[in-house]
Amino acid sequence: MSFLTVRGLETFYGPSQALFGVDLDVNEGEVVALMGRNGMGKTTTISSICGLVKYGAGSIEFLGQDVGPLPSHRIARLGVGLVPEGRRCFPNLTVYENLIAAARPGDWTLERINNLFPRLKERFDQYANTLSGGEQQMLAVGRALMTNPRLLILDEATEGLAPVIRQEIWAAVRDLKRTGQSILIVDKTLSELLPVADRCVILEKGTTVWTGTPAELTTDIENRYLGV
Ligand code: ATP
Repeated sequence: MSFLTVRGLETFYGPSQALFGVDLDVNEGEVVALMGRNGMGKTTTISSICGLVKYGAGSIEFLGQDVGPLPSHRIARLGVGLVPEGRRCFPNLTVYENLIAAARPGDWTLERINNLFPRLKERFDQYANTLSGGEQQMLAVGRALMTNPRLLILDEATEGLAPVIRQEIWAAVRDLKRTGQSILIVDKTLSELLPVADRCVILEKGTTVWTGTPAELTTDIENRYLGV
């Protein structure tokens, strides 16, 4: 079943057009890597899916429902959990408060978050702004999971983190994949991203230019669309 179906998506920032036709599917239980060089439209695609920016043309269906007219909180309630670029936890709430602020009933509980990120458990009563960058990122992932999303979206979740913390985040992503969590993920480290991805979607100048499995991704395609 297609969880998320994006067709011909065009998104504008004022008069300036950022997306010119993005096509993207995420099926149930699939991990889809959204790829492309800087500025090609990955974050704009994610923001459009989550209702954070309104799109001008095309369609986005989530679980068979047209999300175009819906405000972002309604899209979240339908089951889209976003870990935005740059973390963004509530700085003046504790770890515990951050986690329960967004919680909705489902399989994800504080206990499961603790098992996924044992580091967070030790810091339950600390304010989020006293956490390290990596811990804040774990908290951002934990908070998104506490909404019990059908689709989890991770935008550059490992960016700027120390290697050991990056490994913890990737281990969590692999754990989530094993449990059948549907994931749409953006990350610059292809050597970590490709092994977890079932499918890749590459954007170039706001348009989907290639879709395929990691095994089908040739050096030629990498050089053409992903090289620096
Ligand atoms: P990065 O990896 O650098 O985050 P990206 O692939 O996520 O890149 P976007 O951030 O979606 O790309 O940017 C797509 C295009 O939209 C770029 O040309 C960018 O300059 C433009 N853009 C992004 N955000 C805004 C904004 N708030 N206002 C105007 N233009 C924007």
